[in-house]
Amino acid sequence: MDFQNRAGSKPGSGGVAGYSESNVDRRERLRKLALETIDLAKDPYFMKNHLGTYECKLCLTLHTNEGSYLAHTQGKKHQTNLARRAAKDAKDQETQMPKLIEAAKPKVEIKRVAVKIGRPGYNVTKVRDPTTRQVGLLFQVFYPEIGEGIKPRHRFMNAFEQHQELPNRAIQYLIFAAEPYENVSFRVQAREIDRAEGRFWTYWDPDGKTYSLQFLFKNERPVGYLGGGGSGGPGGGPMAGNVMPTVGNPLNPYAPPPAGYMR
Ligand SMILES: [Zn+2]
Repeated sequence: MDFQNRAGSKPGSGGVAGYSESNVDRRERLRKLALETIDLAKDPYFMKNHLGTYECKLCLTLHTNEGSYLAHTQGKKHQTNLARRAAKDAKDQETQMPKLIEAAKPKVEIKRVAVKIGRPGYNVTKVRDPTTRQVGLLFQVFYPEIGEGIKPRHRFMNAFEQHQELPNRAIQYLIFAAEPYENVSFRVQAREIDRAEGRFWTYWDPDGKTYSLQFLFKNERPVGYLGGGGSGGPGGGPMAGNVMPTVGNPLNPYAPPPAGYMR
């Protein structure tokens, strides 16, 4: 915009008004127009100093009012400095770009790929129900550095679902997962798991950061104790006929103890 050549802005062209009056009017009109069309708050070089006057931070010039500053921004000096600054900024950006890209990289990667911290420690214990004679396994997986708010998960997978090893019909896999740990997988006999209540359980101890899972295999053949009566069959003896109660299950270290049982 060229403020100098606006209609009526030249001294004398205003007709009736005198020189000084029209000059003041012109400045005021310019100031108002400029304030309406240009947002000085967004001009990075415009600065009001402590003396109440204005400075161009680019050209280091002083201005008594906004109109004067705005007129300056249309002048050759300011325009030349603007072009010079733009060229310098472009060059700086070019040299800084690789650094900026490098600085931005890790952030992006952390978001996309969770950093794994290795495999958790674990214990595997063979268990056997003395009453039903079912055998099974107790897994305890230790996750001391588990992520905030994360609960470990498990999954049984048959030999054909996994793609790590050649499928073997006799094997199934038990997998544990908890971020940021790597998954761990255990080979287990491909026998049917007893899913009855109290026979299969999992427990996450948030204080001890230990995930426990215990299962028993279903017996291949029914056992004598189911017939009850302590007839001297395979389940005979003092426990015969008593189905193991869910509460106080001695195979479950986290189940409440039966009455009178001292821990
Ligand atoms: Zn300037």
